[in-house]
Amino acid sequence: MPDFRKAKAMVFPRRVVAGSNVVDQIADIARDFGLKGTALIVTGPFTMKVAGKAVAGFLKDSGYDAHLYETGLATLENVDKVVKVAEEIKAQFIVGAGGGSKIDQAKAAAHRLYLPFISVPTSASHDGLASPKASIKDGSGRPGSVDAVMPIGVLADTSIIAKAPYRFLASGCADVIANSTALLDWQLAHRLRGEEFSSTAYAISTMCATTIIESASIIKKNLEESVWVAIKPMISSGLSMSIAGSSRPTSGSEHLFSHALDGIAPGRALHGEQCGVGTIMMMYLHGGGWKQIRDSLSEIGAPTTAAQLNLSRDEVVQALTMAHTIRPERYTILGDRGLSPESAEKVATLTGVI
Ligand SMILES: [Zn+2]
Repeated sequence: MPDFRKAKAMVFPRRVVAGSNVVDQIADIARDFGLKGTALIVTGPFTMKVAGKAVAGFLKDSGYDAHLYETGLATLENVDKVVKVAEEIKAQFIVGAGGGSKIDQAKAAAHRLYLPFISVPTSASHDGLASPKASIKDGSGRPGSVDAVMPIGVLADTSIIAKAPYRFLASGCADVIANSTALLDWQLAHRLRGEEFSSTAYAISTMCATTIIESASIIKKNLEESVWVAIKPMISSGLSMSIAGSSRPTSGSEHLFSHALDGIAPGRALHGEQCGVGTIMMMYLHGGGWKQIRDSLSEIGAPTTAAQLNLSRDEVVQALTMAHTIRPERYTILGDRGLSPESAEKVATLTGVI
């Protein structure tokens, strides 16, 4: 037999439940996973009322010992505190019931303690709902990606997520639409540099972006069904990363643009919002249908211009010229040398971003 040495590990959640009022399934899920004893529920001041208390209540009703812990911003210091509390109460599993920053702390703490983790997101602003990475700020306040655990269960309750500001959901949709250019970049890197490629991950990621683009007209404010339509592609998009073994199927030049903005103008807009605007411009560079991208974003209510991202013309141009330097090993349409300031200004102007 010819020598064959390829091998890959793929990590997935064991159960993902999405739908209206599914939070009441928390105890059944914990039991099905064989979890016993004490749970630490990591939540925030607002999400305590929206989800934390309910999660604790359902667990207690089913005989679990449930401790609620209210945490703050996603910093290493706060993750240390979560770890300490979990150790003190001898938690046997951790539940994150909150927005992205609370979930990130819970899953980073679970990783450190080798504990199972269940995610109950109260908003959906990016495609990392089912991912083994957490975004945590270090001592100097710089955001970084730290190792975390893949949730064994995800309970995406549409009635809870629908109560979060609509801007988050629109941002999550934009993060999935961003797959459109990430996939073109991946294909380019595969053809040009022989980069590892997965057709399965490619197909799933494409399907997620297409579903959001085709459903754009029904994704709107104050409509729980919008969450229902958006949440599955958002979760599946994250799973395409598990299949690929990298973030390639969901993160290309448009994400590099967003990361560049995080350095130049931190905190002005949400991750998905920045990536969406990046997708319009990178699709233009790829020679693809950038107008369809722009129109879908605008129909969903996600930003399509620098002004809507609270950014100046110069900041956008600067981010465009810098983007290729952010992660040089990630080859994209920006190439090794990136955009010249003149070309950057041209692409941003022609696509109506500035
Ligand atoms: Zn993203």
